[in-house]
Formats: sequence, C-alpha cells, structure tokens
Amino acid sequence: MTGTKTADLPEEAQQFLLGVYERAKARLETVIQRHGLRPGLSAAMAQERIAILDHEMAPVFPALEQAGTRVACAKGCGVCCTLTIDVTPDETFALVDYLERTQPAETVAAIKARAAAADARGHGLEPLARHRLRIACPVQDPQTMACLGHAARPTPCQGYLSLDLGRCEAVHDGVGRDVPQPTAANMLTNVVSHTRSYAFEDAGAPRQSLELTAALLAAWADPDAERRWLAGEAVLPTAASYQAETEES
Ligand code: SF4
Repeated sequence: MTGTKTADLPEEAQQFLLGVYERAKARLETVIQRHGLRPGLSAAMAQERIAILDHEMAPVFPALEQAGTRVACAKGCGVCCTLTIDVTPDETFALVDYLERTQPAETVAAIKARAAAADARGHGLEPLARHRLRIACPVQDPQTMACLGHAARPTPCQGYLSLDLGRCEAVHDGVGRDVPQPTAANMLTNVVSHTRSYAFEDAGAPRQSLELTAALLAAWADPDAERRWLAGEAVLPTAASYQAETEES
C-alpha cells in the first residue's frame, strides 16, 4: 500500500472518494436491511462488495493503459498468494460458504488439509517472517495456481494489483522489498473495505482482524461463529492477526 493520505489529495479527488463511500454505504446497508443479521449475510455482503469494487475500479484499467503502465496480474499467476492476508470475520464466512457451495467435497477436504499444514508452519508468525516461508494460501489450486474462491475472495486479494510481475517474483523470492501498485486502486480498495467494516460495526458486529489461513480453519471448526458474530460476539480468537509487541508490553 502506498502512504498517500486522503487529506493530501486535491479537493476533486477527495470529493470523488467521498462519492465512492456514499455509493458503497447505501448499497451495503441495503444488503444488511434486506438480509437481516442472520447467517448468510456475510456471503450476500461479499457478493455486493466485490461488485462495488469491480465497478469503481473499472475506469482504473484503461487509464493505466493510456498512461503506459499496464496491470501485470493475470488468472493463474498467484505469486502474491504467499503474502500474509488479513481478513475480517465476514470475509472468512463468505469464503467458507462459497467453497462449500461450489467445490466438490474432496476439494474442500483438500483445502482443509492444506490449511492445517500451512497453519502448522506459519501460525502467529510476524507477516514478513511468514512470507519468507512461502506458505501458499490453501485456497489456491496447487496445479493451476488459480484461486478456488475467486468470486468470494477477501477484499485485500481483490484490491491487490501489481504493475510489475518481476518485482512480485523478487518479493516472492525474498530479494525484493516492494511491488509498484496503482495508487487509485489502493485508495478505492481502502474506501470499500472500510465502508464494509463500518456497515457491519453499525449493525453490531465487532471489528476484528484475522489471518486468513487460521481464520478458515477456525471457521470450519466453529459452524455457529457467524451467527454469534452478527449478535455482537468476538469470534475465531485463535486466528487473530499478528500484533507487534510494544515496548511497554
Ligand atoms: S483467497 Fe484466493 S486470491 Fe486470496 S490469497 Fe487465497 S488463493 Fe490468493
């Protein structure tokens, strides 16, 4: 992510992002009102937030092409799927729901086995240390490298766009430090992600940050977790994202 702050942007860009926020808020709150605070809401919200971000990001691609900076991402690349992905409870429930509805039982069993093996290697590690182990996301098909949960992928996966595959590979190989990304895509992703979080928080579901692999395992082990989260309970405690220790702690 870049360090560009909304307050540093020209007035016109700030107004544009405010418009994105208002459009996303209206659409996401409508989903909550229609569906109600019951299991399945996370899947309904995932469908909407993915559609919103797709729609808002659509003009970014031709603009980049015009500027001669093409997006390097392509289906089946998957180089970035060894990064540590922080997700929210709803993103986890939506992904579990999607995989169970769309994948054969043996594929779901294989994903669970890969998740257990990945978690055994990387649970609780500091993100860079975890990344150095090149632990692939369990949702990635090991043969095709495609994301088996693409239509319900978490927001960080949807919004992560690279402008240079060579730099992605260098980071993957542990010899590079950063990947050039379109600032506009990052800002739109942040707006949609935060708007989604505020909508859930306003409805009473607590804000939580979870590491994706551990969160999938925890959600599969606790099928009632979505209902309790929507009722206001913090859930999936074993999957909490890495927190750097402060000097005082
Ligand atoms: S959920 Fe899909 S896109 Fe995201 S890290 Fe896993 S395989 Fe990659």
